[in-house]
Amino acid sequence: MRGYDGTSDAACNGTDLQVSFKDVCKSYDGDNWVVKGLNLDIKKGEFVSFLGPSGSGKTTTLMMLAGFESPSEGDIILDGSPIQNLPPEKRDMGVVFQNYALFPHLTVEENIAYPLKMRKVSKEKIQQQVAEVMRLVQLDKMGKRKPSELSGGQQQRVALARALVFEPKLVLMDEPLGALDKRLREDLQLEIKHICNRLNLTVVYVTHDQGEALTMSDRVAVFNDGVIQQLATPEEIYQRPANTFVATFVGENNKLHGVVQDVTNGIAEIRLNSGGAIKARASLHARKGEQCTVVVRPEKISICTDVSECAMEGVVRESVFYGDELRVHVEIGNGCLLVLRTSGDERSESYQPGASIKVGWRPEDCEALDYLP
Ligand code: ADP
Ligand code: MG
Repeated sequence: MRGYDGTSDAACNGTDLQVSFKDVCKSYDGDNWVVKGLNLDIKKGEFVSFLGPSGSGKTTTLMMLAGFESPSEGDIILDGSPIQNLPPEKRDMGVVFQNYALFPHLTVEENIAYPLKMRKVSKEKIQQQVAEVMRLVQLDKMGKRKPSELSGGQQQRVALARALVFEPKLVLMDEPLGALDKRLREDLQLEIKHICNRLNLTVVYVTHDQGEALTMSDRVAVFNDGVIQQLATPEEIYQRPANTFVATFVGENNKLHGVVQDVTNGIAEIRLNSGGAIKARASLHARKGEQCTVVVRPEKISICTDVSECAMEGVVRESVFYGDELRVHVEIGNGCLLVLRTSGDERSESYQPGASIKVGWRPEDCEALDYLP
């Protein structure tokens, strides 16, 4: 099985290329492949996220880049040279992991200074660089504290400062915010993104949180089962998913199943298994006579007053109020449920369970993708 070919990305020319994975495969036990034929180019200054469910091979891929694991097959190229035989400490990469513990007996300053000490940097230079990076991550008043005297968010800032202090070529982060609560995560996501932009760092960031990947990244590589399913900007990933896996893993999507009747000018006509026919943008997966999955996002479904092209009849099964929005679950025949969003301030009586409703969307707002039950 071959993954998405990230090296054929036209935006990546040779001069600003920093990292290339070339046909990289990894098996820990010689039987099961956990990374399969991975090709990926990363440009200097780019923020790339690896997004995917648990066990999809994100950490393994990052560990091979960091040098803590080696590929079973294929090459990893850094600045034009293969790095197979380069130990981790010679790769000049800063790393931040969720459980990459700080040294508990050292102060914040001493923790941050550690990589510089290892590199035998002079005392004055260490003082200067540590002070600078502490200002950057807003820890300037915390230098004399021990990690145990810091909050979780502050500890992750120390870990980030320690990864940045030696001005690495590349910064690798594996679920660095995984242990923090939602509000703090969101603050730190933006903060990390701004710091990395300001320093023009190349970052590879692992997360299973799609919101995190979408908000932070220049490009997102969506992993599943050791294969990159799609490598693209956050907007493309969300609006033009390459397949049904990506469509349903990233953001929320309604799935409908049917058989393609015809494809003309990029629009497929589909007879739905739940009854009725609809039109959808035809992906490469939509072939006449074959089963497909049609995906449409909840925010693209509107409640119709007049009968438009895509309108179908349904019955409200449930309405859930979220404050800023109302989510309406609509059954459109044969137990097929759609979820749509509408603003919470509208009169919600018309969305009571049992109410009849007409829903619709524009053909260009839904995609006919590969069949995935
Ligand atoms: P992710 O980071 O996406 O959750 P991983 O790269 O950690 O995925 O894991 C991918 C697969 O490799 C999983 O099936 C996992 O159990 C297996 N795996 C990871 N690390 C090891 C290891 N050190 N030895 C054996 N199997 C491993
Ligand atoms: Mg992992």
